[in-house]
Amino acid sequence: MSCVFCKILKGEIPSEKLYEDEDMFIIRDIDPKAEKHYLMIPKRHYKLIADMTKEDGLAFQRAIRKIPTLTENLGLQSGYRLVINQGDDAGQTVFHLHVHILAGQPLDFPDLRKK
Ligand code: 5GP
Ligand code: ZN
Repeated sequence: MSCVFCKILKGEIPSEKLYEDEDMFIIRDIDPKAEKHYLMIPKRHYKLIADMTKEDGLAFQRAIRKIPTLTENLGLQSGYRLVINQGDDAGQTVFHLHVHILAGQPLDFPDLRKK
C-alpha cells in the first residue's frame, strides 16, 4: 500500500497527530494554504465519497461532528472552512479521503470561473 496517509497512520511517515480516535486522526498539512491548515483523515482507506460504505458514512459523521469540539485545541474559534477535493477537476492528489480544515484568518471565497 503506497498511500501516504495510511503510512502516516501506521507511523511509517512521521507526522504529529494533533487528535486521534477510533475513526480518524488530524495532522497539519505539510504544505499549508492558510494560516492554519489541518487534514482530518478517516482511518479506513477509501478514495471518494462515492466509495463510502454505510459503516464509513457513520464513522465520517462521527468524525465531522467531532471537529466543533476541537475548536479551542486547533485554534478554530473564529471560524473555519472544510474542503473535500474529489477527483481531477478538484485536483485531488492523495487518493485517501480527507477533509481539509482551513482557519486562522479571514478566508477568501474566490470566484473560480475563467473570465
Ligand atoms: P488533496 O490535494 O488530495 O485534496 O490534498 C492532499 C493534501 O495532503 C495536500 O494539501 C498536501 O499538502 C498534503 N500532504 C501530502 N503529503 C503529505 C504528507 O506527507 N504529510 C502531510 N502532513 N501532508 C501531506
Ligand atoms: Zn490510505
